[in-house]
Order: sequence, then structure tokens, then C-alpha cells
Amino acid sequence: AARPAAPYLEGLNPAQRAAVEALDGPVLMLAGAGTGKTKALTARIVHLMAMGKARPDQILAVTFTNKAAREMKKRVGTMLGQQVEGMPWLGTFHSVCVKLLRRHAELVGLKSNFTILDTDDQLRLLKQLLAATNIDDKRWPARMLAGIIDGWKNRAWTPEKVPAAEAGAYNNRGMELYAAYQARLRDLNAVDFGDLLLHMVHIFQKHDDVLEQYRSRFRYILVDEYQDTNVAQYLWLRLLAGGHRNICCVGDDDQSIYGWRGAEVGNILRFETDFPGATVVRLEQNYRSTPHILAAASGVIAGNQGRLGKTLWTQEQDGEKVRLIGHWDGEEEARWIGEEIEALQRGTRGMRQYSLDDMAILVRASHQMRAFEDRFLTIGLPYRVIGGPRFYERLEIRDAMAYFRVVTSPADDLAFERIVNTPKRGLGDKAQQTIQRIARDNGVPLVQGAQIAVGDKAITGKAAVALGQLVSDIARWGRMAGDPDISHVDLAEMILDESGYTAMWQADKTPEGPGRLENLKELVKALEQFENLQGFLEHVSLIMDNESSEDGEKVSIMTLHAAKGLEFPAVFLPGWEDGLFPSQRSMDESGTKGLEEERRLAYVGITRAEEVCTISFAGNRRVFGQWQSALPSRFIDELPEDHVEVLTPPGLYGGGFGAAGMGGLGGGVRSGIEDRVAEANVYNSPGWKRLQSRSAQRPVSQPRESRDTVIDLQAVSAHAVGERVFHQKFGYGVIEAIEGDKLDIAFDKAGTKKVVARFVTGADD
Ligand code: ATP
Ligand code: MG
Repeated sequence: AARPAAPYLEGLNPAQRAAVEALDGPVLMLAGAGTGKTKALTARIVHLMAMGKARPDQILAVTFTNKAAREMKKRVGTMLGQQVEGMPWLGTFHSVCVKLLRRHAELVGLKSNFTILDTDDQLRLLKQLLAATNIDDKRWPARMLAGIIDGWKNRAWTPEKVPAAEAGAYNNRGMELYAAYQARLRDLNAVDFGDLLLHMVHIFQKHDDVLEQYRSRFRYILVDEYQDTNVAQYLWLRLLAGGHRNICCVGDDDQSIYGWRGAEVGNILRFETDFPGATVVRLEQNYRSTPHILAAASGVIAGNQGRLGKTLWTQEQDGEKVRLIGHWDGEEEARWIGEEIEALQRGTRGMRQYSLDDMAILVRASHQMRAFEDRFLTIGLPYRVIGGPRFYERLEIRDAMAYFRVVTSPADDLAFERIVNTPKRGLGDKAQQTIQRIARDNGVPLVQGAQIAVGDKAITGKAAVALGQLVSDIARWGRMAGDPDISHVDLAEMILDESGYTAMWQADKTPEGPGRLENLKELVKALEQFENLQGFLEHVSLIMDNESSEDGEKVSIMTLHAAKGLEFPAVFLPGWEDGLFPSQRSMDESGTKGLEEERRLAYVGITRAEEVCTISFAGNRRVFGQWQSALPSRFIDELPEDHVEVLTPPGLYGGGFGAAGMGGLGGGVRSGIEDRVAEANVYNSPGWKRLQSRSAQRPVSQPRESRDTVIDLQAVSAHAVGERVFHQKFGYGVIEAIEGDKLDIAFDKAGTKKVVARFVTGADD
């Protein structure tokens, strides 16, 4: 007689159950988003233990992020109905490999207490190596070499195995420098991230006894997000599974989004060849999203060629259509999303109430987070940033802020230390110690110490010239900061340019380089909302102090990449503009490879949403103080019209763009533009007000038709006497008089003051 199924099996559909109960031999679960792959994988772990097939420490389960690993461990416990006594081998590729490599370090010439270098250390080491060569590091930056070496490691190429076709890399010196770098790491008893897998693959290939040991230890292997494994990870898995072939991989070719980091979607497509006789399970029922959301996601991904193609269906109720909204600029987008989040929380959108934990903002590029962080801090909306530092904690932002700090307060020695040799000015440890000593002896700040050091020739040569230049630049920038006629935004940009800091990142050829430049632009943009550098720095120091506690409900902010595998009842997808999403890089590239990866990213984004999915775009983003107009993302045109609802934004522009962006959505929407123009509350749109105050600056690219209509209305004043407004520094107040761009405002708290119009926005409380 059949035993009643265990509770963890009862919640599964027949296909999932087949994947869970096919305990031995290779299993591939290839299925679309939200079909319960991860759930089935977790149930499989439980089943293996329940059936006595393996002890917890005999199961190797690999997830993509540490967060996913923690969650899986928790779910295993819940399904099993008891605390799991350790699953030491449930983790990311990296965490598992660190553990293994510590045990066998001597086989690759390391000691078991080796250190793991971070990206900064790695770079420093490469620079030291380059110093001993005659390579011009301006033309051939160390970062470029780091990128090349990472790429080789992702392919599991040790220096001996790098194919001859790569010999031209890095001015023909790449291979030799790679070998030198590896030798240096060994001397230092250190590894970088790429080495963790590279060394383990090497050990398994060269030492049969070690491989055998782990083949029998790991009786069952399970891998989530298999579509994003790179060659090294793939080889490592194949070696381990080569004996018993008890390997279960789950993935979705449509969610392969790490091609830029060496992932090969081919790995998943090749599974049946690698493991002949594999049980292949396809799951088609989606349990996560409403039909509208699912249809929108399917519509977008259908634009990719060469997919395996999948059917997805759901039993959920129709629910909300995917909501689409256009905004004037990124700040307005952040403001609107903040308000929308609060409305969803209160349940005033005709939908149920959502907790902050239920909501997430998924961005394409990390620099997009800044606008949200600033806005949420201003309105006191709790948030967390997942998978990376918060904006103001990033390396390049801290560097730039250090420059601003020395300029506004020259006695800020910590800031000076941070920037004195960033970018490189040839000031080694010795020169820096000299500056310290002189400053100490004279009882003056480091900047002055530096000046004395140069004057007294305590530092000489090239370094002295560079240092002398820096010191006089700082003094000059300081004078400019005190000049009311010079915009602090322009000044900030000037500081970053003249100091060589921007150029340092422009020369950077690693995948992170462009992101860092974007963040710097974003920083300059953030300055616009403050009256001067000082005010801005105070704001940031408040943010940094304001480190809110871990508990309590919070909105999550993360990149689309970090959102893989996660789900949220309500998801916001901002910044759907050509050039941002899809990224400029993918659009410039010849061929469609990059664009297809971006499209998969769009698919990942939409499919994170369970009930409410809101896509937005801004018609303008400010880049280094200049408007750049943007076109709505081409992916917006790919959203199937029947499943999208176009929302009317609070301001006029978004309305115009919202409609214009929906080129594919038929005439009904389009012909509504004029009406909307007439109706929209133009004067309350912050984008409008900012345009007013900066009317000299027109969009740099060709304005679109709808915008032209709008710009004709410029004669109208942005503010009216009696209007309630908000000022960054003084808070809420009412306008008493208007004089050109100056406003007399009676502030609730700060009394009556004359302020510049562009620091004032409508009070939308
Ligand atoms: P992704 O591709 O995004 O990683 P996935 O295929 O791994 O998605 P899961 O995260 O495992 O999907 O499942 C999506 C949601 O559906 C989860 O909330 C899960 O609990 C639920 N779910 C999965 N299978 C079932 C089922 N048979 N019955 C009810 N709910 C299910
Ligand atoms: Mg999953």
C-alpha cells in the first residue's frame, strides 16, 4: 500500500514531484521564472535526507548568493519540520571553494591560512608588478589587466593554459604578467576571488585521490541558477559529478544575465549531452505572478532569438495590469515612487495594503539608487540596499566627497590623506610621512604641511610639482567655493576634472569603470538640490549617522542582477530609458548579444513581481549639470498593450512622454495627449519648476514633439504668491512675494527668508 506522502511533497505539482523523487542520476529542471524550481530543489534536499539517501553533510548544494543559501537552509528546516543539523556544503560556489581550498592549499603551493584579496588589493598588486615594467599605465591601465586576468580565470585557464590566440592581450604582455601575478600571489600566500575556483579545478584535475574523496563525500549535488555558471564553475561541477552522476541542476535560459562576467548559457543547454540519460523536467505553471504580469514578461522576452521557448501559465486571478508611468526627470520619478509606496502601504490605491517588506525597487544601474535614497531619507521612509554598499558608502563617492571636504574645510586631514595620492601623484609612503611630520612640527593641517614641504624642498622632483599643484588648486577651489557667483555644481565638476579624478576612472577599462563614472555624475546631480557644498556635506553626514537599525519594515532597493531568484508582492522598475536600460553599451555593440542579455534582465525584473508591477521612465536625466533627454526604453514598446495600464503622472511632461513612449499602444492613448496637456497640473510639477529656473539649459539632444509643445509654455511663472512650498534647508513655508528668481517665503519653522527659486519645490504634503 502506498504510504501517504510527506507534507513537503504534498505542496508540489506532478512535474515538480517527479524532479524531487527522481533521486538518483542526473536531473535537469529547465523552466521559466516562478515555476517553483527553487522550491522543488529545496524539497529534493529534504527528500534525500528523509529517504536516508544522504546525511546533511553529504549534500552539496550551490546557490548564487549567500542570501539565497541562508533562505534555502531555513526552508529545508521548515519543510523537514525540525532544525537541520548543519548543511556545511550549502552555499555559493565561492564559499564552498574557500572551505575546500583551505584543506588542500598545499597542493597549489599555498598555506591553509591564505588570505583572500579584494578587488582593491588585487589592483594594488598588479600596479606593483607593472611598476617593474616599462608599460605605460595610462594607455594600459592596471584595471584593464585585472579584467583580462579575471576573464581567463573564469574560463579556468591557468597561465600555462591560456591559448595562443590570446597572446596579443594587454599589449602582448598579458600572459607573462598573468604568470608573474600568480607567482606573486603564491609568495604572499594569497588568492583572489577567481583563484578559488581555478585552484580547485586544478586540484581535482591533477589529484585523483582528492577528487575521489569528494566524489564519495558529496553523494548528491544540487545547483540553482545553473544558467549563470561560468566555465570554471561548470568544470568543477562536472568533475565532482563525474562518478555517481547524482547531479540536479535547475535554471532558466531566459534568465541568464551574467554573460558579462563569463557565464555561459551554453552550459545549461549542454546538460543532456554532458549527462546522457538525464531526466529532464519542464515546469510550466507559474505560482508567483498574476496573468497580466506574466503576459507582459513573456511579451518582452519573445523579442529574443534562439530561445528554447517555454509556455507559462497561471491559475492566479487577473489582478492589476502592469502599470506604466513617465516622468519629467529622475528626481520626480523618485518622488512619485516614494508617494506610491506610501499609498500602497495605506491601501489607498484600490488594492490591498502592502507592508514595506513587500515592496522592492529594482534598478538597472547602481547609480540610480542615489535619487531614491535621498528622497526616502527626506520623507523618512525606511529602506535597505541589498547586495552592495549604500550610495554614499561607495569608494568613488567617498573619494569625491573627500575632495569637497578639503576644499570647504582645509583642516580636514583625513580627507586630505585620502586624496593626496588619488589619482596617483607619485607621492609614496615616504613623501606622505614627510608631510605628516612637517605638519606636526608646525602645528598646522596637512594641506599647509604639504605647502611647506614643497617650499622647503623637503619633497622634490615630480612629486613636488604635483603636490604643489594640488595645494594651490585646493586654495583656488576654496576661494571659488566662497564666491556666490560660482555655482557649486559647476565647481564640484571642476574639482573632479582638474584633480584628475574623473580621468582616473575614464582610463579604467574594467566592467566596474563605467559604473563608477555614472556614480560620480549622480553625485554632482545630487548637489543641485543644495545651496552650496557645505550644505550638501552636512546632509550626507546626517545620512551616514542615520544608519537605521536592522529591524522594522523596509523597502528594498537593489539592482536587477541582485534580485535574481527573489520575489515581492509589489515591484517598481524605474529608469526604463534607452541608454540606461538597455544600457548604452549594449546598444552601441554590433550584433544583438548585449541587447538580448538586457532583455533577459527586463524579463527577470518583471517576473520578480507577484501582484503589482510598476515600470517607469524619465524624459530627462541630468548629467554633469546638463539636461540629457532620453527616449523611453525600446522594451516599453515591447510590452503587450493589453496587459499594460498607462498612468497619468502628476506633472505634464510625464503624461506627454508616457503616451509618446507607448508608440505601440494604439491611437487611443496617443490622441489623449492634447487633453492631458490641458488638464495636467503643470505648475506643480517639480520638473517644470526646475526647467523654469534653468530655462537657459535646453535638452542637449533633439527634443521630441511632445516636449516642444511644452516648452512653448515657458512664459508662465513657476510659482504663485500664497503657494505652499518646500525648501531643502528651511522646510515648509508659504510664498509671500516673488521678485525675479528670488522668493520671500514665510517658513513654518525658520521665519521669513529670501531664497532662490530653484531650491524650492511644491509642497505636496
Ligand atoms: P525563479 O526562476 O525566479 O528563480 P523559481 O522557478 O525558482 O523562480 P520559486 O521561487 O521556487 O520559483 O517559486 C515561486 C513561488 O511559487 C514561490 O513563492 C513558491 O513558494 C511558489 N510555488 C512553487 N511551487 C508551488 C506549488 N506547487 N504550489 C504552490 N506554490 C508554489
Ligand atoms: Mg529560483
